Amino acid sequence: VRAARRWLALAAVVMLAGCTAASLPAAAPSPRLPDALLGPGATQVVVEVSAVDGRVPSTEVFQDITRELARITGKQVYVLKPTSVPEQGGDYRAKDLERIHRDTSFFAPEAGFLSGQRIVLHLLVLDGAMASDDTERMTLGRSLLHSGIVAMFPDGYRDAVTRVNGTWEPARDALDRYVLLHELGHCLGLVGNGVPMVRDHVAPGHPGHGNNPKSVMYYHPPMAPGARSVGAIPVGYDADDLDDLAAHRARLAAGAGPLG
Ligand SMILES: [Zn+2]
Repeated sequence: VRAARRWLALAAVVMLAGCTAASLPAAAPSPRLPDALLGPGATQVVVEVSAVDGRVPSTEVFQDITRELARITGKQVYVLKPTSVPEQGGDYRAKDLERIHRDTSFFAPEAGFLSGQRIVLHLLVLDGAMASDDTERMTLGRSLLHSGIVAMFPDGYRDAVTRVNGTWEPARDALDRYVLLHELGHCLGLVGNGVPMVRDHVAPGHPGHGNNPKSVMYYHPPMAPGARSVGAIPVGYDADDLDDLAAHRARLAAGAGPLG
């Protein structure tokens, strides 16, 4: 029990790292990303993809993400053909992600994520891992909301397997989808991280993360650092998540100002 508890506590840090409201700078641009994505101002979401060779998620994963974002935001969503970028070496800190973003983005505005009525998200699919990772902590993805950056680190799970109908099968696609939906959930402000909760569903002690294991926003990722086999991988948002998003979208559509 003690070992299991320890694992839980350590693993919980994994997805939490850097993806809470606390990571937003004091002078965040206006509007904030969740309000831009859910509000009536912008009509388009463009997801620019810069990927290190061999790390690009499958076309099916991108199609799923496109459909889900369009459904939730009511906007036209375009995921652009991935652009190949050189290996970046890993050992990243947030400022490295900002630098890679500036160096490789073609569409992102000078500052922030808003260009007229277009929101530009920049997906970085990178080699290696965050500098904060070690044998007991692994960052699967990280979002920097003020710049519209979503980074993912598939090297940590590219060989993962999961049990499907009694046989072990590659989990890479399912984990790519899970990490993308989780990070986009942060961009959308889920679990009290920019969007108010209709019903409280935050996991105590894990701001920005939910208490339902069936939601991609669950605080506990489906794999342990260094493990090859993964547990059940959540496939989407749950009813609490979707109700929060719909309520905030309706609130903004009705002309309510963004929340302080
Ligand atoms: Zn997270």
